[in-house]
Amino acid sequence: MSPSGAVLLGDSVACDAFDESRPLRVVTHAHADHLVGLKSSLRSCSKVLMTAATRDLAEVMNGPLALRDDPVETVEYGEAVEYGDERVTLVKADHILGAAQVLVEDASDNRVAYTGDFRIDGTPPVLDCDVLVVEATYGSPSCRRSFELDVEELLVSMVEKKLKDGTVYVFGFHGKLQEVMQILHSADVSVPFVMPERVFGVSKVCERHGMRLGCLTLSTEKEGRELLDGNLPCVAFYHMNSRQSVGLNGSRLCVSGWEFHSPCRQIGDKEHLIALSDHSDFNGLIEYVRRSKPKQVVTDNYRMSHGETLAREISRRLGIPAVAMPRKHGV
Ligand SMILES: [Zn+2]
Repeated sequence: MSPSGAVLLGDSVACDAFDESRPLRVVTHAHADHLVGLKSSLRSCSKVLMTAATRDLAEVMNGPLALRDDPVETVEYGEAVEYGDERVTLVKADHILGAAQVLVEDASDNRVAYTGDFRIDGTPPVLDCDVLVVEATYGSPSCRRSFELDVEELLVSMVEKKLKDGTVYVFGFHGKLQEVMQILHSADVSVPFVMPERVFGVSKVCERHGMRLGCLTLSTEKEGRELLDGNLPCVAFYHMNSRQSVGLNGSRLCVSGWEFHSPCRQIGDKEHLIALSDHSDFNGLIEYVRRSKPKQVVTDNYRMSHGETLAREISRRLGIPAVAMPRKHGV
């Protein structure tokens, strides 16, 4: 792994950040910390690989980006791309729409894999490989969700209860917000879903790629404005960054994975935190490595994470050599 956060696989591939020595760039998903140096990659790489859903989401979430032409190539899950004597395959990861794991195989059948961000429950298959690079967001033993309660059911019942008092504001990151819409829609919560332009754009991409999200309304249009101004029953979806400035007097729900003790906790006068995560917790990360049976593990120590701790725990619990990369200064 490079100091700038590129996950280097085989001889030709750099994932999730630009590396000038690698002709192939893979974008595992559209979250900003995985699009590092994308403009440089677009200028100098032979190919920039991603799923079509990731391309569409990246354009809306981080645009304007020129992702329609060369060197961008969209690939399906399971479709192999040959480069020199290496073969690169994107495999589905359960994280946000379009997210992928990456497998690189060479002519001698060496297999190197990178999980990207993932949630283990919905991520079949676990990649069998010789060297595994694993994300480490919840890589500390303190990051274990011990509760058995169904978080999705709880989310639905909280929203239904709060709707009796009018508008319910939901704060979360792109991708997660749309997952909440999908959960509410499939549970027949049929009030309008109101949202600002960027959240609306991301939601429309999700719909184009097969997610069913319900009745979407822009907060800037007349109907949306009236619903919010009148505190009428609707669910308003805003990015986590707007949490300090929007819906301050309304009923509020934050969806976040950074909660390990309770599936739902009151954090303000009319505000609750719901522990809905799109990452594996510590147990899920260990379980992935155990099933993947690699000879060597590298933990991602670049993105906000517990890379060092996870590497130590993998060595100790599974007896597999593991290192955190890149090394942080002074460590
Ligand atoms: Zn992510």
